[in-house]
Amino acid sequence: MESNDKTTTRQRWVVGNWKQHLLRAEADTLGRELIAGLSPELIDRDDSVRIGIAPTFVALESTRPWTRPAGPLWLFAQNVAAQESGAFTGEVGPAMLLDAGAGGAIIGHSERRKHYSEDDGLIASKVRGALDAGLRVILCVGEPLEVRQAGDHESHVISQLSAALSHLTPEHFTDRLLLAYEPVWAIGTGVAATPADAAAMHRRIRGWMEEHYSRPGADRSILYGGSVKPGNAGELIAAGDIDGFLVGGASLRAESFLSIIQSAATE
Ligand code: PEP
Repeated sequence: MESNDKTTTRQRWVVGNWKQHLLRAEADTLGRELIAGLSPELIDRDDSVRIGIAPTFVALESTRPWTRPAGPLWLFAQNVAAQESGAFTGEVGPAMLLDAGAGGAIIGHSERRKHYSEDDGLIASKVRGALDAGLRVILCVGEPLEVRQAGDHESHVISQLSAALSHLTPEHFTDRLLLAYEPVWAIGTGVAATPADAAAMHRRIRGWMEEHYSRPGADRSILYGGSVKPGNAGELIAAGDIDGFLVGGASLRAESFLSIIQSAATE
């Protein structure tokens, strides 16, 4: 990563996606363990790596003491409604997330695309609405196994990206827009992309962003997600072009999440 390039807005991030896990007391315990295990240098040096957590909606409030502005962690929701407010039963809008203390939201996770039929159009509306409201966005893209096996993974990911960004204007390309490449076949399977394959996709994404959105586009932080563990985080980061991680399973234990954070900070 171009850490000495002061003109870049790229930032290293490690974000834990807690999915539908942890009751509030458990989230509270994990938050405490994380804070206790973070070295003071990491907490003080925000430019080294930013650490985020994405608990369930109902645990947002209880993790507040450890999240910005009171604490060092950045708080994300796992989803956000496309609409500001209204008669949308079961939805939570951007202003409600900000009100609950979340500064950002994950959008377009493959589990939402698959289990809740979120399509490119809906994801594009969510991205635009969230950015307009002032949230940070982690936009997820990634191909299923059969697409990778057919060799169409790059075009699949670029098509998801192009659709998701289609409602944006140049002003939206700030450091509040982060991307995450998460191959579907790597999520929760224990089989991560090889560092070379992950880095190749990140370069493809960045190249496409540069072609379409010039420097502000190419400057996005691009995280990798999919079976990141203490044992592979270092080699993934070392491959270059990877600005950090979105971590599922391994973020549910302080020890493994802290080890991944350390790898991201030191490489
Ligand atoms: C995820 O769901 O975003 C994810 C990366 O999960 P895991 O790390 O468990 O593969």
